[in-house]
Amino acid sequence: MKKVLILEDEINIRSFVVINLRRAGYDAIEAGTGAEALEKLRENPDIGVAILDIMLPDMDGFEVCRNIRATNKIIGIIMLTARTQEMDKVTGLMTGADDYVTKPFSPAELTARIDALYRRIGGDTNADPEVLSQGIFVLNTRNRTLEKDGQRIKLTQVEYAIMKLFMQNPGRALSREDILTSVWGRDYDGELKIVDVNIRRLRIKIENDTANPTFITTVWGFGYKWGA
Ligand code: CA
Repeated sequence: MKKVLILEDEINIRSFVVINLRRAGYDAIEAGTGAEALEKLRENPDIGVAILDIMLPDMDGFEVCRNIRATNKIIGIIMLTARTQEMDKVTGLMTGADDYVTKPFSPAELTARIDALYRRIGGDTNADPEVLSQGIFVLNTRNRTLEKDGQRIKLTQVEYAIMKLFMQNPGRALSREDILTSVWGRDYDGELKIVDVNIRRLRIKIENDTANPTFITTVWGFGYKWGA
């Protein structure tokens, strides 16, 4: 059974999520504090997706996210943002989250996001070529790794999916909508901003000078392009 961790200190919200996850066929693992969540993740390395609340008694959800990402690039992470402040969303994504859901949310919305992340973790079909090469970059679609000049660059699942899309479409301007649909799925109802934040994160990892990106270039008013 697919395991999902839910970190939320408010018992009512947590129970509500747990009931709905179980109804959707997931094995729900609960945590009420950041420390407890990290412990549960150590005990259950097969957890595929973690849902993290931000306001917690012992540490904030961003710190939990950073902690998880320090050792685990594969797990899908969804932040629960209580406020509608844009900063929460951006901070969450910059600390390594893949997605966010704003409270109050519907069970259907949350499980749709989890399903989408699980599909991405499930990965590529076997029909894919194993290696995509563009200049100094080599993307291996079998073990989902990226190398720049022979150096391994650690990517989250979302970053990997974006890189793959770029490397399959060299020199082609991709609109933010194209990227959102391809990476997050057709049913995703989130905002285009999530694309920009992930590109920003990706540039930090792959560009020589993030102020003057040369690999992922901006197509003003439209989107992004792989190569100048
Ligand atoms: Ca809370």
